[in-house]
Amino acid sequence: MFKSLKIKLLFFFLITNILVLSGFGIFIYMTAKKGVSDSLDTMLKIISIDVIPDFKEDKHLDAKGVADELYEEFGLAPLHVKIIHYDKINGTVEQESVSSAAYEGLFDIPLNEMGHLHSIYYFDKDLYRVSSMLLFDDDGTKVFFQLGMLKDVDSPYLKDLAISLLIANPVILIIFLFIANTLVNRTLQPVKDVIRSVNSISANKLCKRIDAKSIPTEIKELVETFNRLLDNLEESFKRISSFSSDASHELKTPLTVIRGEVEVCLRQERSPQEYRNVLEDVLVEALRVQETIDQLFLLTKKDTAELGKNFTELYLDELIPDIVSQISRFASRRSVRINIKNIIPATIYANETLLRIAIENILRNAIIYSAQGAEVEIGIIDSDNEYLLVIEDHGCGITQEDLPFVFDRFYRADKARSRKASESGTGLGLAIVKMILDIHRYGIELQSTPGAGTKAIIKIPKSDEQKLIFDS
Ligand code: ATP
Ligand code: MG
Repeated sequence: MFKSLKIKLLFFFLITNILVLSGFGIFIYMTAKKGVSDSLDTMLKIISIDVIPDFKEDKHLDAKGVADELYEEFGLAPLHVKIIHYDKINGTVEQESVSSAAYEGLFDIPLNEMGHLHSIYYFDKDLYRVSSMLLFDDDGTKVFFQLGMLKDVDSPYLKDLAISLLIANPVILIIFLFIANTLVNRTLQPVKDVIRSVNSISANKLCKRIDAKSIPTEIKELVETFNRLLDNLEESFKRISSFSSDASHELKTPLTVIRGEVEVCLRQERSPQEYRNVLEDVLVEALRVQETIDQLFLLTKKDTAELGKNFTELYLDELIPDIVSQISRFASRRSVRINIKNIIPATIYANETLLRIAIENILRNAIIYSAQGAEVEIGIIDSDNEYLLVIEDHGCGITQEDLPFVFDRFYRADKARSRKASESGTGLGLAIVKMILDIHRYGIELQSTPGAGTKAIIKIPKSDEQKLIFDS
């Protein structure tokens, strides 16, 4: 019915209060009315008892005389009196007197029901309350003394009370509504705060969270759910932006190769076979680009199960020469030689495209950070239940201070030197390597001596071990 929660709360509060206040008012009025009526009965009884001694002196008192006397004594008016002498034997009224002829009908009360001596009965007659007391029960006669008094309906006290209640209840209701409005505003304040906080969170401020500490329990759950949603959103945003930088990082080399091959080829007329060779090379690179994008995209999902589907048994001893020949053009442009040494048969379990990316990145670093004419060695060592893939260069090396950070995204040791060595360096290469090796659950160790060179050791569990790890 109401769209606003506040209006709804206030409406229910109003209805409840009207019911409670009306009920309370009626209760107070009824209690007061009963009190007035009881006090009237008590008054009638006191007066009736008070006249007993007078009757002892004179049994034949006159009602008008008694009424006047009572008026003088109690100041009560109008107080109507009737005295009845009842003949027990004949069941007839011997003698009766009423203070005023106008009120005769008021005392139209059955006498034969009256009980023992001094018992008193009360009756309601129109606007009057009437009492009847058996004063004497002599041998042949019963004497009844009856009083009539205006009832409470006209009681000024009850009238005042009713007026007070009629005025006070709406005033109390308005005060209550005002207090309720303040309380509802205060109660809803945390909701307004949450809305303000939510509004301040935008796509580039996804790291912000709503503080759930001072928030009432009822909306805490909502806030926590919202914060969790933000966690997921932030994570997704990070992955998407990682994907863009990783993809452009990995595409740079193959695209340079394609461009170089095509440019060289176009410099002069070639035989059809030469064109064919170049086109084949370009196709191989293009396919690799496509595969790289697919795999990097998979990485953004961080869905290891999905990545695991692309895991196959590979022969590392065949993969390494292939990667080396792939990168040899890049190395020769920098006059660096890559020597494959100590290659042993090694069957491993891996995602080929991703592993290629990792090894190529380490090799590229070894080449870039070596001096012209330097040599880089790559080889496999059999060590218990793992193979160690070792890539060693004799370049500038990494200082001990930089070593712990080189796997961080965008970290570049000794910025000036790095820039000179490779103008296109972004500091992403080793971060990508680490991410790929983590997915494979391979370890990596970097040993480096500044000025002497760097040794990267990738620790690859033997195929069976690796399968076991992934199956568990
Ligand atoms: P890119 O994103 O193009 O690879 P990058 O090579 O600078 O840029 P990383 O491959 O992540 O980034 O390497 C991080 C830093 O570690 C490099 O800037 C470099 O200073 C240092 N580094 C990495 N490998 C070697 C190495 N073999 N010899 C000396 N320094 C290295
Ligand atoms: Mg690099």
